[in-house]
Amino acid sequence: MASVSLSKITKSFGSVEVLHGIDLDIEKGEFVVFVGPSGCGKSTMLRIIAGLEEITSGTLKIDGAVSNGIPPGERGIAMVFQSYALYPHMTVYENMAFGLKVSGMAKAEIDKRVRRAAEMLQLTSYLDRHPRNLSGGQRQRVAIGRAVTRDPKVFLFDEPLSNLDAALRVATRIEIADLKDKMPDSTMIYVTHDQVEAMTLADRIVVFRDGRIEQIGTPLELYDTPQNLFVARFIGSPE
Ligand code: ADP
Ligand code: MG
Repeated sequence: MASVSLSKITKSFGSVEVLHGIDLDIEKGEFVVFVGPSGCGKSTMLRIIAGLEEITSGTLKIDGAVSNGIPPGERGIAMVFQSYALYPHMTVYENMAFGLKVSGMAKAEIDKRVRRAAEMLQLTSYLDRHPRNLSGGQRQRVAIGRAVTRDPKVFLFDEPLSNLDAALRVATRIEIADLKDKMPDSTMIYVTHDQVEAMTLADRIVVFRDGRIEQIGTPLELYDTPQNLFVARFIGSPE
């Protein structure tokens, strides 16, 4: 059974169709990277999986259960955005604990989860700080840590490194690769337009073009046998 199953998904905004029938099965524990030019529908696809956008037609299944109509909070999914979306007046600990508190979880369990996530992302010594006293990379690690505390079935990342400078981007990419190794059962779907991120993180890469899937394959398959020049340019040539 696929972890995330997309079948004939279309999405229109008003009269404009932006996803034209997406079919894709993602296995449990897979790290799948969506790449493609700006505007091709990557974020919309993620937002649909997260339940932040309605599907126009088609079927989305998470762990075999049809998700259409199920609210975002009940899908077992956590999303990390390009902007960190941290609460400025809360400490790192409080930022990571907040969602769990709202859900009514017991304090001891919250504490256990926050400390485990902090350890995973090397944030233990920053738990009392406020976001303004952290670097961009640390803030994004807090946002990722917050996702980890939810113990989701599926992690969604939408260009999580694109606000970071080059050095921090590399460091944070390595943290994410690490996270993947530490959580081998979690499914991860990761949007980027950076080939290095795609090639180094992905089990499989999905190349989007104009609301369609152009090619799916392992990094090596796409590198060795791109289906056409579009894929070759996207995978092979540095920007
Ligand atoms: P990507 O993440 O690949 O850059 P998006 O999924 O953000 O692409 O956008 C795909 C297309 O859908 C674009 O043409 C974009 O303008 C359009 N779009 C995205 N969100 C909305 C919205 N809320 N209303 C109208 N059009 C949208
Ligand atoms: Mg986007």
